[in-house]
Formats: sequence, C-alpha cells, structure tokens
Amino acid sequence: MSTVRDLSRVQVKAAVRRAIENASDEIISLSRDIYEHPEPGFTEERTARAVAKALSNAGVNPETGIAITGMKGLRSFDGDGPTIGVIGELDAVKAPGHPGADPITGAAHACGHHTQVGALVGAAIGLGVKEAAATLSGRAAFIATPAEEFIDVGMRWGLRETGHLGLLSGKQEMIRLGAFDDVDMAMMIHTSSSKAQRRFIVGGTSNAHVVHYVKFLGKAAHAGGAPHQGVNALQAAMLAIAGINAQRETFEAENQTRVHGIITSGGVATNAVPAEVVYEGRVRGRTMEAVDKIASRVEDCYRAGALAMGADLEIVSIPGYLPLENNPDMARAFTRNVGAEFGEDSVMIQADHVNAGGSTDMGDLSQIMPALHPYVAAADGTGHGIDYVIADYRRAVVDSAISLALTVVDLLSDGAAEARGIIDSHRPSLTRSEYVQSQAARLRKINFRGE
Ligand SMILES: [Zn+2]
Ligand SMILES: [Zn+2]
Repeated sequence: MSTVRDLSRVQVKAAVRRAIENASDEIISLSRDIYEHPEPGFTEERTARAVAKALSNAGVNPETGIAITGMKGLRSFDGDGPTIGVIGELDAVKAPGHPGADPITGAAHACGHHTQVGALVGAAIGLGVKEAAATLSGRAAFIATPAEEFIDVGMRWGLRETGHLGLLSGKQEMIRLGAFDDVDMAMMIHTSSSKAQRRFIVGGTSNAHVVHYVKFLGKAAHAGGAPHQGVNALQAAMLAIAGINAQRETFEAENQTRVHGIITSGGVATNAVPAEVVYEGRVRGRTMEAVDKIASRVEDCYRAGALAMGADLEIVSIPGYLPLENNPDMARAFTRNVGAEFGEDSVMIQADHVNAGGSTDMGDLSQIMPALHPYVAAADGTGHGIDYVIADYRRAVVDSAISLALTVVDLLSDGAAEARGIIDSHRPSLTRSEYVQSQAARLRKINFRGE
C-alpha cells in the first residue's frame, strides 16, 4: 500500500497548487480589502489584524506585534531542514488623488503591497496540505513586514526617540529584534507595471540609500513689520536645496545617484518669518560608499544654507537600505518553477547590474542571507503615482502564491537538499549582528550653529 511518504514531487506540487486555486477568491478578496483600507508604515493595524486572521485560518498562528505591526507564523514540515521565509509587505505609500487613497491620510496602495499579503496567505494555504507536511523537510516562516516605504520620517524618528523602534523600516527592525534569526533564506514577489510581456521578472539590484531628517531653525518675527529681527529658516532650506541641485553635474551616471526630498513643514504663519522648516531627504546610489560620499556633500549644502542665513541646523542621518543582491541559486529554483507552471517564456531574466534606482529593505535582508525579490508584471501605471493600480489580481495574488509555494516545495524536498546546498554555498556580506551593529553605527545626529 502506498503511503503519503511515497508521493512524488509532482503530486505534492499538484496538491499545493490545487489548494491555492481553491482559495483564490479568498486571497484576492483579502488583497482587495487591504487596498480599500490603506495604512502607511508602522500604522498598519487593521491590515495586520486581517492578515493575522487569514494566516490563522490557514493554520499558521502568527506571533504578532513584531516591529509594531509585523508578524511571523511558522509551519513545520516533517524533517529537520532549514527555514524558508516567505514575505509580504503590509504598508501603503502616500498618493493623494489615487482612486484607492484614504481621504484623510492620503495613503494608497500605489506600490501593490496589498497583493503581496494575499500571495503570502495563499502560499501559507498551499503549503498547509498534508502532502507537503509529510514530504518536505524543514519549515516555512510566513512573515508580514511593516513599513517598507521609508516615509513619514519625522513620525518614525519620534517612535525611536520614545523607544518604540530601533531601526526605522519594517525588515530592518525585525532583523534587529531577532525575528529573522531562525530564518535561513527569504523570498517575496513585488508587483511591477513593466510592459516586458513576461509574467515574472527575476534579477537586477536596487540602490542603497541614506535618509536625512533635517530641521532648519531660525527666529520668528513680524514678516512685514520687523523681518530684520527674524532669521528665515525657509530661505536657509531653499539655499540648501539650491546647493544640492548645483552638485548634480558631479554625479556619475553609472552610480545611479538620486538626491530628493520634501519639505514637511515650511513655516506656520504667512505673516511671520518662518522659524522652523523640516526637510525629509534621501540620497541613493549603487553602493553604500557612493551614497556616503554624496551624502557628506549634501550635508555640507544644509550647512551652507544655514550659514548664509545665520540659522541653526539639526541633521539626523538615518541608515537607509542596502543594495539588493538576488541569490542566483534561488533565482534558478524560482525560474524553473515559474517556467514549468506558466511556460518557459513567462520569465524575463535581468542582469545583476540592472538597477531601476529605487531601494528596498529586502536589500538589507539579502546582505545577511540568501534572498530573492522577483517582480510580477500585474500592474498598470506609474509606481507611487495616482494611476498605479493592479490590472490583473489573479496574476498578482494567485500566480505569485503558486510560484512562491512551489519554489518552497522544491527547496525543501528530498531532505531539503536544494535549500541546504544554497545555504552551504552562500557567503553573506554581513552576519546578523554585524548588520545590526553597522546600522546602529551609521545613525548620526549633527548640530550646526550658523551664526
Ligand atoms: Zn514603493
Ligand atoms: Zn513596494
């Protein structure tokens, strides 16, 4: 009599796929529900409750409240193989005017993260079948991470000042808290509006970055009656920005440098000289060394603006993200599964150096463990724009769930031989403690008196 142990890998995959297909309405509904209730990073309370409930229903009871709104649920298979993290991001970005935007906060799923959590839950459902339990070796960790979009810097800095956060993005903080200590490799799928005519895109990298939280501090005075008695912090900020713009001709093209920011407070009353102006900025580049070099010059520009006006300055330089390094063996496992499932021409392979200029905290994870961050071409519009919407929910949610789950099946079959091989041959650039220490060391507060 055959037992469940004698199942072929093909049969296990068929059972996993079938379970996800059967749950497709449920996981698409979850994603649509989250789309309707967008929440920016570290405030994803409702989103987290919905995801925790769905994971519990899938038989994975997650530990919640990690890094405020993050969670992690484990599914153990039969043998003692490694643990593969499957990740979904919880947070919305801000895009007022987006059809799914929250009218009060402006938060909107203009980056498609709501479909990632549907795929996460789908993968948890698929890998919950008895055929997987009996034949795979190791564990799957289903991890929902907060705050990938590095926005609302002032709010996050406040959470750090009051002891609620150590590092200021979701994956960064979950690494710091040890949530990835028992995870051996990690993967997720992000949506894309690429018109490459392929269902999935694998490979490429992303920019490193550093985050600046800057206060220009002047002195209020009557803007009509006594402007000479004031110190205009807005003029100081504008001179700083002009200085930054003057640097652009020095940026080397291959470095993919990006320097950009927003003024989140530009003064409080039109008839008073602005006494406090707050700027949230970003410096990005291909390597951390390149970022540091430009960031140092950008800091000089803040000083120059303050000096010109006699304003004071507070700069907080916050460790941002590290470049993404996709693990080639994980990429091969993923590509093989997607090719078998959706056709050999369903995957576009990007060279390692291809860098669209954005950044992700999956980059941080990829520096401490084997990691994979492919894209699913299921959206229309401009990323972070008001027209970025999911064009194909089935592809974004269900196809992604199937691709993630079947890749886990391969990695953990035959005593997790493939996963063990990947882990054995992988040389992370940082250990977990080195990562946490180096990020902590990168945080700097600089005060400058421009008088
Ligand atoms: Zn985004
Ligand atoms: Zn995103």
